[in-house]
Amino acid sequence: MRLPYVDNTNPLYYQRFQPWRDVPRSDWDNWKWQLQHTISNPEQLAEILPLTEEAKERVRHTLPKYKFAVAPYYLSLVDPNNPECPIRLQSIPTEAELHIEAGEMDDPLAEDTDMPVPNVVHRYPDRVLVTITGVCSMYCRFCTRRRFVMDKEGHKERNEVDVICNYIGSHPEIRDVILSGGDALMMGTTMLVEIMSRIRAIPHVEILRIASKIPCVLPMRITDELVTTLKRFKPLYFMTHFNHPYELTPEAKIACERLVDGGIPVMNQSVLLRKINSDAAIMKKLMQELLALRVKPYYIYQCDLSEGIGHFRTPVGKGIEIIESLRGHTSGLAVPEFVIDVPGGGGKIPVAPHYLISQSDKKVVVRNYEGFISTYPQPTLTDCTCSTAKAVETGPPSLHEHGVARLLHEDSISIEPHETRDALH
Ligand code: SF4
Repeated sequence: MRLPYVDNTNPLYYQRFQPWRDVPRSDWDNWKWQLQHTISNPEQLAEILPLTEEAKERVRHTLPKYKFAVAPYYLSLVDPNNPECPIRLQSIPTEAELHIEAGEMDDPLAEDTDMPVPNVVHRYPDRVLVTITGVCSMYCRFCTRRRFVMDKEGHKERNEVDVICNYIGSHPEIRDVILSGGDALMMGTTMLVEIMSRIRAIPHVEILRIASKIPCVLPMRITDELVTTLKRFKPLYFMTHFNHPYELTPEAKIACERLVDGGIPVMNQSVLLRKINSDAAIMKKLMQELLALRVKPYYIYQCDLSEGIGHFRTPVGKGIEIIESLRGHTSGLAVPEFVIDVPGGGGKIPVAPHYLISQSDKKVVVRNYEGFISTYPQPTLTDCTCSTAKAVETGPPSLHEHGVARLLHEDSISIEPHETRDALH
């Protein structure tokens, strides 16, 4: 069957390695078949990709420390003739992973510290991330949660789900729940629906999100039946993860379009990865193609400080350079936010080129992407109080009451780090 999309810019399209060349389309397009034929050790890998003994040994070395698995579909996107193929670099282990650089951590985002109960990361005021499984169909070599997918194998048991739901239910400030993992869609549909139904039944939870790389690495999992099931949980957002335009195969495009056509908004989060997408042309192509699929480019993450992934990190300036090459040069809708998820649990901090050049009480001086410098006069009326603000602020505490925003809205004049104060007094 000819699929509706043919991407002539992807030289890898429809390539399948032996022994999968003659696999019927009905099997190839079946996600369960793909999982049953997942490659998870160097011997299997060497039967598919030409690997030297040395390369095989390198994969073998990493396995006791980090998981490896890749389904036939995603492995088929590897260019066997390019040692720096972006798909290969993302999916095939190398010995570089065994090199731990200074500053790298097991849990760089301090998620375990922000876990009031197991499997619930409650870092931000009104939302939580729930790790419902430790399983992925492909274990990204740059994974931030590699400690988690290694230790917490399998899906959550019912008693663990009880704890998760009880926590969310007893915290009325939580209005947004992100189901993550591992990969949330590696869970069977029945169990996933059970968890989603229980969370959806909590009155103060307004929004559900599914965080899943499945549209990229196992797009056949996104069936019409799954979409019909998921759309019952609206408002539901789907957070996916593409890093390179070569991942936008006809199958992946169909998966994304199925979700969007089913009324589920899809957002993309990329990780900035050295030698994979650390180039403005690659990122621009990726963002434009995603947008054409109605997938909103949401974040580009600076690569985290997880152990053994230093070879993927770029200077932060590379991300700023990429945003500089996107903003103004293409649709604003195609420009994601570049963020550093800072070590120690500070959360996502946006980093961007400077567009505000200077300011006085009379005007601001700004520049655009071309270097055009202009001014914008400050208004003479500066009171921005809205008569309806108090009326809509009923319910859980507003965001203004926390952090730096509080300094702007209350009488407090400073925020003092406890550590410094304790050392001085
Ligand atoms: S899909 Fe997500 S959780 Fe799984 S290995 Fe990749 S980055 Fe890690």
